[in-house]
Amino acid sequence: MKLQGKTALVTGSTSGIGLGLASSLAAAGAHVILNGFGDIERAKDHIASVGQAPGYHAADLSDPQQIGDMMDYVNREFGGADILVNNAGIQHVAKVEVFPPEQWDAILAINLSSVFHTSRLALPGMRERGWGRIINVASVHGLVASKEKAAYVAAKHGVIGLTKTIALETARTAITCNAICPGWVLTPLVQQQIDRRIAAGIDPQQAQDDLLAEKQPSQAFVTPEQLGELALFLCSDAAVQVRGAAWNMDGGWLAQ
Ligand code: NAD
Repeated sequence: MKLQGKTALVTGSTSGIGLGLASSLAAAGAHVILNGFGDIERAKDHIASVGQAPGYHAADLSDPQQIGDMMDYVNREFGGADILVNNAGIQHVAKVEVFPPEQWDAILAINLSSVFHTSRLALPGMRERGWGRIINVASVHGLVASKEKAAYVAAKHGVIGLTKTIALETARTAITCNAICPGWVLTPLVQQQIDRRIAAGIDPQQAQDDLLAEKQPSQAFVTPEQLGELALFLCSDAAVQVRGAAWNMDGGWLAQ
């Protein structure tokens, strides 16, 4: 139980990668606070089955006021976040010239600005307690672009820039800040892209295979459990000099 006594806030943790990361942290002994929408009871039950019963806050991360409320709740009920995992994210697929401006604003707010707000509010407590870990879930799209994902690519590049800045500002402390950059992980977010191909008449298995074949040489999805192992390493004392890194786990995507 390496993380016994630590509190971990994981944003966007009701499904997909966030739920996987929250499970790994809970199984390692951390007291987890969930956030996000959808099947909240299922997520809470899952975390309780591997660790302590979790906290939960429904903040909509596009709203800085609600982020403030969530951070107040974490401070009040749990004594602050020792581990902050900024995971929540959305995307929209369209070429720049037809990209809806309201989607641009929403993606920048949720995928990038929320990382600034949660970090801004978590850092003072981490400094006071003399220990902290910030793990930002970026993407391979924080390091390279793909067509038709302008807002997502811009936000994820921004997340990596923010990660490096926080790492520099905390460099002489036991607080570290790093980004993880997954390739394709089979979550509801990626299923949307597969579903678009299925709607265009492609066989479901073929749609998955094509998605992987285009970018991911391993021809296998990365799993939330594998990303959880990486997060546990970044939380460990052995990783204290890993600072401002962008760790890709991408089945070889960026090796091409
Ligand atoms: P997902 O859709 O399964 O989960 C997204 C989570 O964010 C959910 O819990 C959802 O409720 C929450 N969320 C969405 N909007 C929110 C808001 N406004 N306020 C609060 N919570 C909100 O997606 P996922 O694939 O698990 O993605 C998680 C993160 O991983 C995202 O940042 C995504 O960009 C990143 N990522 C995913 C992949 C992939 O292949 N799935 C690859 C690289 C990076």
